Amino acid sequence: QVNTLTAIKEVIKEKNVELLHLQFVDIEGILKHVTVTAEQVDDVAEGKIMFDGSSIKGFSPINRSDLYLQPDLSTFAVLPWSVEEGYSEARFLCSVKNPDGTDFEGDPRNVLKKTVKKAEEKGYTINVGPELEFFLFETDETGRPTQQTQDFAGYFEPSPHDNGEKVRLEIYRALKAMGFTIEASHHEVARGQHEINFKYADALTSADNATTYKWVVKTVAKKFGLHATFMPKPIAGENGSGMHTNISLYDLNKGENAFYDAAEEKGLSKTAYSFIAGLLENVKSFVAVTNPLVNSYKRLVPGYEAPCYIAWSDSNRSALIRIPAVRGAGTRVEIRCPDPSANPYLAFAVIASAGIDGVEKGLEAPAAFDRDIFSMTAEELFLEEIENLPTSLEYAINEFEAGEIGRSTFGDHVFDEYVLAKRAELDSFRTTVHGWELENYHTKF
Ligand code: GLN
Ligand code: MG
Ligand code: MG
Ligand code: MG
Repeated sequence: QVNTLTAIKEVIKEKNVELLHLQFVDIEGILKHVTVTAEQVDDVAEGKIMFDGSSIKGFSPINRSDLYLQPDLSTFAVLPWSVEEGYSEARFLCSVKNPDGTDFEGDPRNVLKKTVKKAEEKGYTINVGPELEFFLFETDETGRPTQQTQDFAGYFEPSPHDNGEKVRLEIYRALKAMGFTIEASHHEVARGQHEINFKYADALTSADNATTYKWVVKTVAKKFGLHATFMPKPIAGENGSGMHTNISLYDLNKGENAFYDAAEEKGLSKTAYSFIAGLLENVKSFVAVTNPLVNSYKRLVPGYEAPCYIAWSDSNRSALIRIPAVRGAGTRVEIRCPDPSANPYLAFAVIASAGIDGVEKGLEAPAAFDRDIFSMTAEELFLEEIENLPTSLEYAINEFEAGEIGRSTFGDHVFDEYVLAKRAELDSFRTTVHGWELENYHTKF
């Protein structure tokens, strides 16, 4: 890995890097960048590049708008698609600083860094492995996305049904060139739907990777004349796209996975059970972050391998939390509600804090629930005391505002801005007349 300034300068020379893109995300996790010339690499490394924070969603008010970008040198990567006639471009992911050099409290990356630091003080490293699904759609003659998926294949289907193999190969090559370790790639359940898996890492690296992955997938798809979307439910009646998040704690004092206990019946430690309990306890107040769109709640319905009930299980894919079969160093919890429209920095931060909250309080997890929840009746669910996940963004935002985990994890700035942004989105949705309403009401009434 190239992560010293000297090594970076060598690559710049060797690959003839002309431009450097300084990247960060806004409150929704949308990637932004400003481009400078490679000659400025010293200034860049010293965090001297300034930008206007008042034009970034959720950032600073217009009267305190000067912010600085501090690149994380370990995220330096030459953009594989930029290499042309001997010239190329590179990028850094950055943290955002105030003019006085302190961390800018509105930067989602700083929020996750703070969460990671807090966990370290308690003796844990947070490891995360997200699985981001996406759809590929055809574009029209002007390059705009259509609603035609690029194929009609299903789960694990090879070509000639899978038209995405070449695109996924190019995505794989690009990610690999940028330093990713890719583990698997396949066609997903829905037509036009795909998944490419990269190796787990510490939470910050994984959020950086998820951000880069989304950008690379969209960029490569565009080269094929396709539109890639991480919208959670682009087609009603088909599987939506999830961002299942595998998470574990590593015990820094013992030097081992804190979730594994060989002596216990299921091989799970007390810490793992408490972490699960923390997730279950807090989930209603954090889905507004892991499932941030009006559209997110159209995915969380029965019958599409997305969770809708608050329960955990060893292997049951209808449950919110599943424990993949692997034990030992790979022992982990998979939380299945997040979708890829979530800001990965904020999502991983709030999931980790919720779990760690359970560990701190020594919460006990309810018994694992191994029945197929999708096939249970409302009455059975009631008798088993199985609750629903929030069914709308409005419900989720209300829970988020009323809960404690959001404010304590994000700090006032990001928490307040997040609620503000989501309320505005809800209002816009609520006051719009949608196609469904016209179809169902226009002629009938
Ligand atoms: N697409 C499903 C979801 O939302 C997951 C399907 C799978 O990975 N097996 O969450
Ligand atoms: Mg998967
Ligand atoms: Mg999948
Ligand atoms: Mg999964």
